[in-house]
Amino acid sequence: MYIKPKFAPLPPRPHTNFHHVLFDSPQGKQYPRDHVLYIDGLTGEKQTFGQFYERVRDGATAVAAAKDDGGLGVRDGMVAIFASNCVEYSVVVHLCLVLAIPFALLPSKPTHTELVYLLRKSKATKLFVHPSLLQQALQAAKETGFSPRDIVLFGQSSKESINYPHLDDLIRNVRSKKLPRQDVVPAHKNTLAYLVFSSGTSGLPKGVMISHGNLSFCIQATIFWIMERNKVMPPPPGPSPILLCFLPMYHSYGLHYFTFLPFLAPSTLVILPRWNIDDALVAISKYKINSLFLVPSIVHQLATSPKTQKADVSSVLSAGSGGAFLPPETAKKLTEVFGSVPAVTQGYGLSEGTIGSIGRPAPGQFGIQPDEMCTGILIPGQEARIVREDGSEADFDESGELWVRGDNVALGYWGDEKATRETFTSDGWLRTGDLFRVDRREVFYYEDRLKDTLKISGAQVAPIEIELALRSHPEKLVVDVAVAGVPGHGRIADEKMPRAWIVLSEAGAALRSSKGESEVFSRLEKWTQSQLSRYKWLRGGMEIVNEIPKSPTGKTLRRVLVDEYVRRTAAA
Ligand code: AMP
Repeated sequence: MYIKPKFAPLPPRPHTNFHHVLFDSPQGKQYPRDHVLYIDGLTGEKQTFGQFYERVRDGATAVAAAKDDGGLGVRDGMVAIFASNCVEYSVVVHLCLVLAIPFALLPSKPTHTELVYLLRKSKATKLFVHPSLLQQALQAAKETGFSPRDIVLFGQSSKESINYPHLDDLIRNVRSKKLPRQDVVPAHKNTLAYLVFSSGTSGLPKGVMISHGNLSFCIQATIFWIMERNKVMPPPPGPSPILLCFLPMYHSYGLHYFTFLPFLAPSTLVILPRWNIDDALVAISKYKINSLFLVPSIVHQLATSPKTQKADVSSVLSAGSGGAFLPPETAKKLTEVFGSVPAVTQGYGLSEGTIGSIGRPAPGQFGIQPDEMCTGILIPGQEARIVREDGSEADFDESGELWVRGDNVALGYWGDEKATRETFTSDGWLRTGDLFRVDRREVFYYEDRLKDTLKISGAQVAPIEIELALRSHPEKLVVDVAVAGVPGHGRIADEKMPRAWIVLSEAGAALRSSKGESEVFSRLEKWTQSQLSRYKWLRGGMEIVNEIPKSPTGKTLRRVLVDEYVRRTAAA
């Protein structure tokens, strides 16, 4: 089934550097310079819009300036950003955009193995690092052939950072030399802006290539979406948005909501390095946060923790959730606890589609009364298909894979043509790997994930990454393995947890005979935990099997294993 855009077509966009779209637009030019834009939620340090803007432009000048002038001498290549959320994260993102230098977003709490893999994959030649992560960066840099000279620090400096260039120093150098300000470097629709890592439908994490054109489209679609929504449901007068930012800026969701969208209207963003319910509740009452962006696992935690009951959360007027399916009962619980939030809004999107593709309409918009199970309608500028397994078009109310098309669809995967061909069709469609059905009103309902990749606490988990970790155990205990998500272990209804089905090697079988199965599991568990971030740990358990079911082409049939497991546990 083909679903055409409901909204009028978007006006043509100027194909320029995304920086111009944000800052040289009417809303960018009118942004009050003394408006407090960012607040460090732990130290209380503030940055106005004017200070932020100057810092971005000075930072761009310093990074591009020749080394002889005290700059970094970087005008091209790929840089990687390795930091937790902080005010300067946004500065680095924007200075790279000014220079049209693409940046790779690295997760802020990876294991050594993960960091080495992603650094290699990004092909970055410079690494922007927060000083608190310097030691980890140095270890990974050594293994990937990076010279310590290619590391640049940003954010709060520390004693040990004295031997590395720091953005503060570079800016000071070029300022003292009174160098002319670096112009915004021209970029066009397909100029690469950044890489965000995603496993896509299967396989290991890959760099999704997001262009300046993708970003410009998303901003325009958002403006249009808000304008049209406001016509149906004018927003109540109130204070300008005060947001709490704990979702990682290295993921599309945090990056867009905390570093791009705040420039559409005066907003204040209180930054926390990461999610922590205690810090979040303190910040909500201290800074009178009125708008929250959440993922379902955090909605659940906020809605059920006794800590929330004791905190003052009365300032919060709106909450949105994305990144995974939000069960209606979890959303309802949150609105009960946060009496001032009328409903939790929900959006659907994926990294390969830059940010959002589907959102909930306002009640009555296009004559639709959205029900609590629906994901929503297509955002402006987006068209969709629902496709059966055999490639034919599904009917209304029939499940099929969602394909989307629009200028938000990424350029492809960085350096991976095969994966690009599998996910992005030559005529512009993006296969999402998600199962949806659409009713006659053209309202979309999320059904399930077709893809291997799991979503845990809003973050992606690639089964193959866990399989590789199990296979790489130094004692070679495993000859074959499959990992898949099993229900019943997640904190919220939809969340599945990774479980491993293992075929033992001779060494593994010998260990089982001598020390028992639990010793095999314990060694494998310890090893995988040393290799993988906590959210990827095997919380769905492990079991030993004689063989892994495979298709005639050798593809692991994860679904067969999961179905058998579900049947067995239901019968038990
Ligand atoms: P990511 O690329 O990390 O943003 O992950 C995108 C994936 O998260 C999608 O392909 C879906 O599987 C899932 N997802 C995101 N938003 C929703 C939603 N509202 N409902 C269900 N699944 C979602």
